[in-house]
Amino acid sequence: MLSSKTIKEEAQKLGFFSCGMTSARPVSEDYATNFRAWLDRGCHADMQYLENHFDKRMDPTLLAPGTRSIVCVAMNYRPERVAQGIAWYAQGKDYHDVVKERLVRLMDAIGAHGRCFVDTAPVPERYWAWQCGIGWMGRNTQLVIPHIGSAFFLGELFIEEDIDTYDTPMDNHCGTCQRCIEACPTGALQGNSGLDARRCLSYLTIENRGDIPSWAQPLMDDTFYGCDRCLKACPHLHSAPTSEDCFAASEELLGMTDADWADLSEERYRTLFKGSAVKRAKYAGLTRNIQATKNKFRAE
Ligand code: SF4
Ligand code: SF4
Repeated sequence: MLSSKTIKEEAQKLGFFSCGMTSARPVSEDYATNFRAWLDRGCHADMQYLENHFDKRMDPTLLAPGTRSIVCVAMNYRPERVAQGIAWYAQGKDYHDVVKERLVRLMDAIGAHGRCFVDTAPVPERYWAWQCGIGWMGRNTQLVIPHIGSAFFLGELFIEEDIDTYDTPMDNHCGTCQRCIEACPTGALQGNSGLDARRCLSYLTIENRGDIPSWAQPLMDDTFYGCDRCLKACPHLHSAPTSEDCFAASEELLGMTDADWADLSEERYRTLFKGSAVKRAKYAGLTRNIQATKNKFRAE
């Protein structure tokens, strides 16, 4: 039996500002039904991988047999200085590597056995973070933490040990607020129906391998990787800048001008984004996005 208090203390030492835990069990019927309906409506766009492993996604004991408890943690990524055009979460090093390494250290520190996940397996991470009492699933479709907002990475440990105290899910505090929905330039946020990725600039500029639709180009403003408008509109966003230096933008990235972006060579792209999550869009995707953004500037 592991101690909840010890796990939370060790998580704090490793840079996770929030940590909670719950027993391993299937997700609620409501969540599973809503997720299936969301897939059936095609709201996941071309992200076919979200259709895979439905049963394992809905039941952690099928994904990782022997799992008894789930520990969820959050790590702040809010940047102090922001390089233009790029979403906050992608200013520095790739969070997959950073958070995974800390999760492995957390597993060792608490003497647990199991698996670590950072947005790389069929794990409904916001659902489990909610069940672990870290925050609630907001109308922005992200996890919201009171007085913090949503500018953090989530990670999970699926462990084979029981824990002496489990947390309870946090109540939803969105109330009558609609600010994220009002801030979304594309109508991608659909209230209780969630996010339609086909209309989300974050999806269109990162995961999408096709063209940026012509209707979306004038709505990009000067952001060519991600969007963040719903995140920044949330009245709960009061987090301080992260103390993790690895999530800070490099001086070279901060110094990029419009002309530099317009002339971005593949060689410079590789240097600028070595070890960065921006590589997910690949050089062709990023230059496609920049061109779409510049089209908007030229039209003005
Ligand atoms: S990231 Fe942008 S486009 Fe996507 S839901 Fe949020 S505000 Fe809308
Ligand atoms: S902006 Fe308002 S409605 Fe949207 S997630 Fe934040 S509190 Fe909820």
